[in-house]
Amino acid sequence: MKILSVIVPCYNEEENVADFYNELLKTEGYFKDHDIDFEIIYVNDGSSDGTAREVKALHEKDGRVHLIDFSRNFGKEGAIYAGLSKATGDYAVMLDCDLQDPPALLPEMYEYIVNEGYDSVATRRVSRKGEPPIRSFFARRFYSLINKMSKTEIVDGARDYRLMTRQFVDAILSMEEYNRFSKGIFGWVGFKTKWLEYENIERKKGETKWSFWKLFVYALDGIMAFSTVPLAVASILGVVFCFLAVVLIIVTIIRKAVFGDPTSGWPSLVCIISLISGVQLFCLGIVGQYLSKTYLEVKKRPIYIVKEEI
Ligand code: UDP
Ligand code: MG
Repeated sequence: MKILSVIVPCYNEEENVADFYNELLKTEGYFKDHDIDFEIIYVNDGSSDGTAREVKALHEKDGRVHLIDFSRNFGKEGAIYAGLSKATGDYAVMLDCDLQDPPALLPEMYEYIVNEGYDSVATRRVSRKGEPPIRSFFARRFYSLINKMSKTEIVDGARDYRLMTRQFVDAILSMEEYNRFSKGIFGWVGFKTKWLEYENIERKKGETKWSFWKLFVYALDGIMAFSTVPLAVASILGVVFCFLAVVLIIVTIIRKAVFGDPTSGWPSLVCIISLISGVQLFCLGIVGQYLSKTYLEVKKRPIYIVKEEI
């Protein structure tokens, strides 16, 4: 009998834990027929509600349900990494607890892996129905920008819902970086990936944990994790301004020598100084961002800390 590890990151999802379990079990028959059993790992990412209690109740009923309880909220990336590290299955899949990733797709995903030799089957939503328009707008800009800046392909609308072989999981686990950006990591490791598409499904119960600001910061983290183009922009701006300065010096000297016209006073100076110092601070900021990421990476802090494991 083979094992399929189902990894479910949860942050304040007490009302979804049982619903998700029931929905998942609807595919149990198919997997039993294919000699596959589930290992269901709920990762409780420091919830302040009764998520852990709900998972424990499920565990009492069904020994295949496991709980990894974090000591605080480490973020979804940490939860995914923890789930994958603890998974023992021949295959592993990650799904959101809010049923936005329909478990009903699992049999189809599995078929692609066993019958067509794919190493992973990923999903993307083709519509962003039900999402605030401003959020969709920035999401689109983000994907077009990051794909211009990074060699790793990052698919627009990709979800973290993905079924993987053991080999693929081990590849993901070998990337032990602290600043994790899964959408990039999945692309970076390579292998053959099949993409399935579906319409956006709205959250059943509870609220999204991603505010606009949280997403914005996540987007910047993603760019920095998978591209060094911003650093190059800083150097290019530096070169452009050096060139401009040389031209200005020559122009000023010629004006003085040929036309005897000393450039007048401080308005021009103020403009130049404020423009250049703005550009300098901007570039320094970019360098600072990369430095801070490096600083955190070098500290080698754990990606998550487990309080309890069942
Ligand atoms: N999640 C998590 N840690 C967090 C935020 C979210 O484990 O810090 C989980 C959450 O419980 C859910 C999944 O990640 O299962 C996706 O989160 P959410 O549905 O809030 O995001 P959205 O679908 O709105 O992008
Ligand atoms: Mg969701």
